[in-house]
Amino acid sequence: MQGTYGDSTRSVKATDTERLPGSPVAPYPVPAAAYHLDPAEDDAQDTYGRRSNPTWRQLESALAQLENSSDAIAFGSGMAALTAALRVAVAPGATVVVPADGYYQVRAYAREYFTPRGVTVVEARCEQMCDAAGSADVVLAETPSNPRLDVVDLHRLAMTCRARGATLIVDNTTATPLGQQPLSLGADLVVASATKALAGHHDLLAGYAAGNHPDLMERLRTERLHAGPVLGALEAWLLLRSLATFGLRFDRQCQNAAAVAVMLRTHPAVRAVRYPGIPEDPAHPVAAVQMRRFGGIVAVELADARTVHALVERSALLVASTSFGGIHSSVDRRARWGDAVPDGFARISLGIEDTEDLLADLEQALPRT
Ligand SMILES: *Cc1c(COP(=O)(O)O)cnc(C)c1O
Repeated sequence: MQGTYGDSTRSVKATDTERLPGSPVAPYPVPAAAYHLDPAEDDAQDTYGRRSNPTWRQLESALAQLENSSDAIAFGSGMAALTAALRVAVAPGATVVVPADGYYQVRAYAREYFTPRGVTVVEARCEQMCDAAGSADVVLAETPSNPRLDVVDLHRLAMTCRARGATLIVDNTTATPLGQQPLSLGADLVVASATKALAGHHDLLAGYAAGNHPDLMERLRTERLHAGPVLGALEAWLLLRSLATFGLRFDRQCQNAAAVAVMLRTHPAVRAVRYPGIPEDPAHPVAAVQMRRFGGIVAVELADARTVHALVERSALLVASTSFGGIHSSVDRRARWGDAVPDGFARISLGIEDTEDLLADLEQALPRT
């Protein structure tokens, strides 16, 4: 039965609590730094808050259900999960491939942390990933890429990595586990920021790793214990609360993004639109094979920075903010952060507003020519 449930049912079920009469239906937070110890027992599950927490376990079970993995590990942010995964997977002297056109702080970390430690860091764009993987020990891929929404053929990349014995890590932040399941396409590990669509309310930071290799997951748990990039119990609880509505929110976000992409594609003020869900998009053929849903982000190029600012000013619904995946539709002009995109390039993240309202709002906010 589990396998036949729809995404919204799966989201609600993922956060289910045990049906014990008298116990709360909703998950509750357990904020704990220390636990009572049984002097006679040496291998208690919960001893100290950096090692384990019951709210983490519940969250991790929900995340594993959504990613279809045997295990998941919660972290204090997406970067905490991502950098822990790299530290565990990258051996001294190794070659690691990171996205040249993905989330910018990942490249910065690879350069600043790994290069001085004798690791060869190769930056590859989406279309170069498979070639670069041919001489790598660890490959980190991000698809669709943030912010340009190019797509990496994950099955092909996984075959290349497997042939070489390289570890494939996929950043699943933009796609989300309901949009794409990298582990089923051959990835060894998924890492993601839950700050974006999973948390979905612009109010907390969290991250996770999900996978099926017990030894890799064990090393990652030890890395979390030692380095300490842990998630607070209250954030874990809020994220659990958010996950129950994730299917519902993501449904609307995908629907809004598809409608907005179609509308922008023929708008005279728009120079270019990227959305992997529209058949005209160059990423669509690969996306259609490996993605279940195409997500809530649309990339658009307007004339210049001023036009993007004017759009935000005239819109009653779009908020100007970095980050994405929240309930409010938002716009972020990425050149501001140093991404290699034109000045008028904006990432639009669609929220859960009504589609008709968003279309009308954009229509009145965009310049006529
Ligand atoms: C935001 C983001 C991250 C970092 O996540 P945080 O929760 O902000 O640490 C990593 N990868 C991608 C693709 C992101 O969009």
